[in-house]
Amino acid sequence: MSTTEPRTAIVTGAARGIGAATAVRLAAEGRAVAVLDLDEKNCRETVERITAAGGRALAVSCDVSDTGQVTAAVARVAAELGPPTVLVNNAGVLRDNLLFKMSDADWDTVLNVHLRGAFLMTRACQSHMVDAGFGRIVNLSSSSALGNRGQANYAAAKAGLQGFTKTLAKELGKFGITANAVAPGFIATEMTEQTAQRVGMGFEDFKKAAAAAIPVQRVGVPEDVAGAIAYFTAEEAGFVSGQVLYVAGGPLD
Ligand code: NAP
Repeated sequence: MSTTEPRTAIVTGAARGIGAATAVRLAAEGRAVAVLDLDEKNCRETVERITAAGGRALAVSCDVSDTGQVTAAVARVAAELGPPTVLVNNAGVLRDNLLFKMSDADWDTVLNVHLRGAFLMTRACQSHMVDAGFGRIVNLSSSSALGNRGQANYAAAKAGLQGFTKTLAKELGKFGITANAVAPGFIATEMTEQTAQRVGMGFEDFKKAAAAAIPVQRVGVPEDVAGAIAYFTAEEAGFVSGQVLYVAGGPLD
Protein backbone atom coordinates (compact mmCIF):
# COMPACT_ATOMS: atom_id res chain seq x y z
CA MET A 1 0.00 0.00 0.00
CA SER A 2 1.28 3.46 -0.81
CA THR A 3 1.46 5.51 2.36
CA THR A 4 3.16 8.55 0.91
CA GLU A 5 2.84 11.16 -1.85
CA PRO A 6 4.39 10.13 -5.19
CA ARG A 7 7.54 12.14 -4.65
CA THR A 8 11.06 11.50 -5.95
CA ALA A 9 13.76 10.24 -3.59
CA ILE A 10 17.50 9.93 -4.08
CA VAL A 11 19.34 7.29 -2.07
CA THR A 12 23.13 7.44 -2.36
CA GLY A 13 25.25 4.30 -2.09
CA ALA A 14 22.14 2.30 -3.00
CA ALA A 15 23.76 -0.49 -5.01
CA ARG A 16 23.89 -2.67 -1.90
CA GLY A 17 23.57 -2.86 1.88
CA ILE A 18 21.58 -0.27 3.82
CA GLY A 19 21.17 1.96 0.75
CA ALA A 20 19.64 -0.83 -1.35
CA ALA A 21 17.21 -1.79 1.44
CA THR A 22 16.25 1.87 1.84
CA ALA A 23 15.66 2.37 -1.88
CA VAL A 24 13.41 -0.70 -1.98
CA ARG A 25 11.53 0.44 1.13
CA LEU A 26 10.93 4.01 -0.11
CA ALA A 27 9.75 2.67 -3.49
CA ALA A 28 7.31 0.34 -1.71
CA GLU A 29 5.88 3.45 -0.06
CA GLY A 30 5.22 5.07 -3.43
CA ARG A 31 8.36 7.12 -4.03
CA ALA A 32 10.09 7.15 -7.41
CA VAL A 33 13.66 6.32 -6.41
CA ALA A 34 17.00 7.31 -7.92
CA VAL A 35 19.37 4.48 -7.04
CA LEU A 36 22.68 6.32 -7.01
CA ASP A 37 26.12 4.75 -6.64
CA LEU A 38 29.63 5.00 -8.06
CA ASP A 39 28.79 2.74 -11.01
CA GLU A 40 25.22 2.49 -12.30
CA LYS A 41 25.86 -1.09 -13.48
CA ASN A 42 26.03 -2.09 -9.80
CA CYS A 43 22.61 -0.47 -9.21
CA ARG A 44 20.83 -2.81 -11.60
CA GLU A 45 19.82 -5.37 -8.98
CA THR A 46 18.26 -2.73 -6.70
CA VAL A 47 16.42 -1.17 -9.65
CA GLU A 48 15.13 -4.57 -10.76
CA ARG A 49 13.85 -5.37 -7.25
CA ILE A 50 11.92 -2.07 -7.29
CA THR A 51 10.49 -2.36 -10.81
CA ALA A 52 9.58 -6.06 -10.31
CA ALA A 53 7.41 -4.92 -7.39
CA GLY A 54 5.70 -2.30 -9.59
CA GLY A 55 7.76 0.71 -8.49
CA ARG A 56 9.70 3.37 -10.41
CA ALA A 57 13.49 3.56 -10.21
CA LEU A 58 16.46 4.94 -12.09
CA ALA A 59 20.10 3.85 -11.80
CA VAL A 60 22.49 6.80 -11.65
CA SER A 61 26.32 6.79 -11.61
CA CYS A 62 27.79 9.41 -9.33
CA ASP A 63 30.74 9.91 -7.02
CA VAL A 64 29.10 11.95 -4.26
CA SER A 65 32.40 13.65 -3.42
CA ASP A 66 32.70 15.22 -6.89
CA THR A 67 30.87 18.52 -7.39
CA GLY A 68 30.44 18.18 -11.16
CA GLN A 69 29.13 14.62 -10.94
CA VAL A 70 26.70 15.57 -8.18
CA THR A 71 25.33 18.53 -10.14
CA ALA A 72 24.86 16.38 -13.25
CA ALA A 73 23.29 13.48 -11.34
CA VAL A 74 20.74 15.65 -9.52
CA ALA A 75 19.81 17.40 -12.80
CA ARG A 76 19.33 14.01 -14.47
CA VAL A 77 17.12 12.75 -11.65
CA ALA A 78 15.01 15.91 -11.77
CA ALA A 79 14.57 15.56 -15.55
CA GLU A 80 13.91 11.81 -15.68
CA LEU A 81 12.11 11.04 -12.40
CA GLY A 82 10.96 14.41 -11.07
CA PRO A 83 12.39 16.96 -8.63
CA PRO A 84 14.13 15.16 -5.77
CA THR A 85 12.49 16.22 -2.51
CA VAL A 86 13.62 13.23 -0.43
CA LEU A 87 17.36 12.69 0.01
CA VAL A 88 19.10 9.91 1.91
CA ASN A 89 22.86 10.53 2.24
CA ASN A 90 24.00 6.96 2.75
CA ALA A 91 27.10 6.43 0.56
CA GLY A 92 30.07 5.46 2.66
CA VAL A 93 33.52 3.92 2.82
CA LEU A 94 35.89 2.74 5.54
CA ARG A 95 39.63 3.35 5.73
CA ASP A 96 40.18 2.13 9.29
CA ASN A 97 43.55 2.40 10.95
CA LEU A 98 45.02 3.39 14.29
CA LEU A 99 45.90 7.07 14.28
CA PHE A 100 49.67 6.61 14.01
CA LYS A 101 49.19 4.47 10.89
CA MET A 102 46.39 6.52 9.31
CA SER A 103 47.50 8.12 6.04
CA ASP A 104 46.43 11.49 4.66
CA ALA A 105 44.55 9.56 1.97
CA ASP A 106 42.70 7.45 4.59
CA TRP A 107 41.55 10.64 6.28
CA ASP A 108 40.65 12.55 3.11
CA THR A 109 38.77 9.69 1.44
CA VAL A 110 36.50 9.10 4.41
CA LEU A 111 35.84 12.78 5.09
CA ASN A 112 35.25 13.40 1.39
CA VAL A 113 32.73 10.63 0.81
CA HIS A 114 30.73 10.97 4.04
CA LEU A 115 30.87 14.66 4.89
CA ARG A 116 31.65 16.47 1.64
CA GLY A 117 29.38 14.01 -0.20
CA ALA A 118 26.43 14.77 2.07
CA PHE A 119 27.12 18.50 1.76
CA LEU A 120 27.30 18.43 -2.06
CA MET A 121 24.21 16.24 -2.48
CA THR A 122 22.16 18.31 -0.05
CA ARG A 123 23.20 21.60 -1.60
CA ALA A 124 22.29 20.30 -5.06
CA CYS A 125 18.85 19.04 -3.94
CA GLN A 126 17.77 21.85 -1.63
CA SER A 127 16.44 24.20 -4.32
CA HIS A 128 14.07 21.45 -5.53
CA MET A 129 12.85 21.04 -1.96
CA VAL A 130 12.45 24.78 -1.41
CA ASP A 131 10.46 25.07 -4.68
CA ALA A 132 8.19 22.20 -3.56
CA GLY A 133 7.78 23.61 -0.03
CA PHE A 134 8.59 20.08 1.11
CA GLY A 135 11.77 18.17 1.80
CA ARG A 136 13.06 15.23 3.80
CA ILE A 137 16.81 14.81 4.34
CA VAL A 138 18.21 11.81 6.20
CA ASN A 139 21.94 11.50 6.86
CA LEU A 140 23.59 8.24 7.87
CA SER A 141 25.60 8.78 11.02
CA SER A 142 26.85 5.85 13.13
CA SER A 143 27.35 4.67 16.69
CA SER A 144 31.03 5.31 15.84
CA ALA A 145 30.23 9.04 16.14
CA LEU A 146 30.63 8.44 19.89
CA GLY A 147 34.22 7.29 19.29
CA ASN A 148 35.63 4.00 18.03
CA ARG A 149 39.17 2.63 18.12
CA GLY A 150 40.73 2.53 14.64
CA GLN A 151 38.18 4.93 13.18
CA ALA A 152 39.41 8.48 13.89
CA ASN A 153 38.47 9.49 10.34
CA TYR A 154 35.09 7.73 10.28
CA ALA A 155 34.10 8.83 13.80
CA ALA A 156 34.93 12.45 12.93
CA ALA A 157 32.87 12.25 9.74
CA LYS A 158 29.90 10.60 11.46
CA ALA A 159 29.95 13.09 14.36
CA GLY A 160 30.29 15.88 11.79
CA LEU A 161 27.17 14.63 10.04
CA GLN A 162 25.20 15.09 13.25
CA GLY A 163 26.18 18.78 13.41
CA PHE A 164 25.48 19.14 9.70
CA THR A 165 22.02 17.59 10.19
CA LYS A 166 21.07 19.90 13.05
CA THR A 167 22.21 22.94 11.09
CA LEU A 168 20.17 21.90 8.04
CA ALA A 169 17.13 21.49 10.31
CA LYS A 170 17.57 25.07 11.56
CA GLU A 171 18.26 26.65 8.16
CA LEU A 172 15.69 24.79 6.06
CA GLY A 173 12.78 24.23 8.44
CA LYS A 174 10.92 27.31 7.25
CA PHE A 175 10.70 25.78 3.77
CA GLY A 176 8.91 22.64 4.97
CA ILE A 177 12.16 20.69 4.96
CA THR A 178 13.21 18.39 7.79
CA ALA A 179 16.69 16.93 8.36
CA ASN A 180 17.41 14.01 10.63
CA ALA A 181 20.20 11.50 11.17
CA VAL A 182 20.00 7.77 11.62
CA ALA A 183 22.96 6.30 13.49
CA PRO A 184 23.16 2.52 13.10
CA GLY A 185 25.07 0.20 15.36
CA PHE A 186 26.30 -3.13 13.94
CA ILE A 187 24.48 -3.92 10.69
CA ALA A 188 25.45 -7.01 8.68
CA THR A 189 26.62 -5.69 5.30
CA GLU A 190 29.75 -5.79 3.15
CA MET A 191 31.05 -2.90 5.27
CA THR A 192 31.03 -4.92 8.51
CA GLU A 193 32.32 -7.96 6.60
CA GLN A 194 35.29 -5.81 5.59
CA THR A 195 35.87 -4.93 9.27
CA ALA A 196 35.79 -8.63 10.21
CA GLN A 197 38.50 -9.27 7.61
CA ARG A 198 40.58 -6.39 8.98
CA VAL A 199 40.55 -7.81 12.50
CA GLY A 200 41.20 -11.33 11.17
CA MET A 201 37.87 -12.93 12.15
CA GLY A 202 35.38 -14.95 10.12
CA PHE A 203 32.20 -12.93 9.51
CA GLU A 204 29.93 -15.43 11.33
CA ASP A 205 32.12 -15.39 14.47
CA PHE A 206 32.40 -11.61 14.25
CA LYS A 207 28.60 -11.24 14.11
CA LYS A 208 28.12 -13.71 16.98
CA ALA A 209 30.55 -11.77 19.17
CA ALA A 210 28.86 -8.47 18.32
CA ALA A 211 25.38 -9.89 18.98
CA ALA A 212 26.38 -11.03 22.47
CA ALA A 213 27.05 -7.40 23.45
CA ILE A 214 23.77 -6.04 21.98
CA PRO A 215 20.71 -5.95 24.29
CA VAL A 216 18.38 -7.54 21.66
CA GLN A 217 21.05 -10.25 21.18
CA ARG A 218 21.36 -9.99 17.42
CA VAL A 219 23.12 -7.83 14.89
CA GLY A 220 21.05 -5.54 12.69
CA VAL A 221 20.02 -6.10 9.10
CA PRO A 222 19.73 -3.35 6.46
CA GLU A 223 15.92 -3.42 6.72
CA ASP A 224 16.16 -2.38 10.41
CA VAL A 225 17.78 0.87 9.28
CA ALA A 226 15.55 1.30 6.22
CA GLY A 227 12.50 1.31 8.50
CA ALA A 228 13.89 4.15 10.61
CA ILE A 229 14.85 6.14 7.51
CA ALA A 230 11.38 5.59 6.03
CA TYR A 231 9.80 7.10 9.14
CA PHE A 232 11.86 10.29 8.87
CA THR A 233 10.99 10.64 5.17
CA ALA A 234 7.24 10.22 5.69
CA GLU A 235 4.78 13.07 5.23
CA GLU A 236 3.64 12.55 8.85
CA ALA A 237 7.14 13.23 10.24
CA GLY A 238 7.05 16.94 9.38
CA PHE A 239 7.39 18.06 13.02
CA VAL A 240 10.40 15.84 13.73
CA SER A 241 13.63 17.53 12.73
CA GLY A 242 17.26 17.82 13.82
CA GLN A 243 17.14 14.46 15.59
CA VAL A 244 19.67 11.65 15.78
CA LEU A 245 18.12 8.20 16.08
CA TYR A 246 20.44 5.37 17.14
CA VAL A 247 19.35 2.10 15.56
CA ALA A 248 21.56 -0.24 17.51
CA GLY A 249 19.46 -2.86 19.28
CA GLY A 250 19.76 -1.02 22.58
CA PRO A 251 21.13 2.14 24.18
CA LEU A 252 24.78 3.04 23.73
CA ASP A 253 27.17 3.88 26.54
P1 NAP B 1 28.27 -0.77 2.07
O1 NAP B 1 27.60 -2.10 2.02
O2 NAP B 1 29.75 -0.71 2.04
O3 NAP B 1 27.64 0.13 0.91
C1 NAP B 1 28.11 1.44 0.68
C2 NAP B 1 27.78 1.84 -0.74
O4 NAP B 1 28.25 3.19 -0.94
C3 NAP B 1 28.48 0.96 -1.79
O5 NAP B 1 27.56 0.56 -2.79
C4 NAP B 1 29.55 1.88 -2.33
O6 NAP B 1 29.89 1.66 -3.70
C5 NAP B 1 28.88 3.24 -2.20
N1 NAP B 1 29.85 4.34 -2.30
C6 NAP B 1 31.09 4.38 -1.76
N2 NAP B 1 31.70 5.52 -2.08
C7 NAP B 1 30.82 6.22 -2.86
C8 NAP B 1 30.88 7.49 -3.51
N3 NAP B 1 31.97 8.27 -3.44
N4 NAP B 1 29.80 7.90 -4.23
C9 NAP B 1 28.72 7.10 -4.33
N5 NAP B 1 28.60 5.91 -3.73
C10 NAP B 1 29.65 5.46 -3.00
O7 NAP B 1 27.85 0.03 3.40
P2 NAP B 1 26.59 -0.10 4.41
O8 NAP B 1 27.02 -0.97 5.54
O9 NAP B 1 25.34 -0.40 3.67
O10 NAP B 1 26.57 1.39 4.99
C11 NAP B 1 25.73 2.41 4.47
C12 NAP B 1 25.88 3.65 5.32
O11 NAP B 1 25.55 3.34 6.68
C13 NAP B 1 27.29 4.22 5.34
O12 NAP B 1 27.24 5.63 5.40
C14 NAP B 1 27.86 3.67 6.64
O13 NAP B 1 28.91 4.47 7.12
C15 NAP B 1 26.63 3.71 7.52
N6 NAP B 1 26.71 2.78 8.65
C16 NAP B 1 26.83 1.43 8.47
C17 NAP B 1 26.91 0.60 9.58
C18 NAP B 1 27.05 -0.89 9.45
O14 NAP B 1 27.21 -1.56 10.50
N7 NAP B 1 26.99 -1.49 8.27
C19 NAP B 1 26.87 1.15 10.86
C20 NAP B 1 26.75 2.52 11.00
C21 NAP B 1 26.67 3.33 9.90
P3 NAP B 1 31.11 0.71 -4.13
O15 NAP B 1 30.67 -0.67 -3.81
O16 NAP B 1 31.26 0.92 -5.60
O17 NAP B 1 32.29 1.14 -3.34
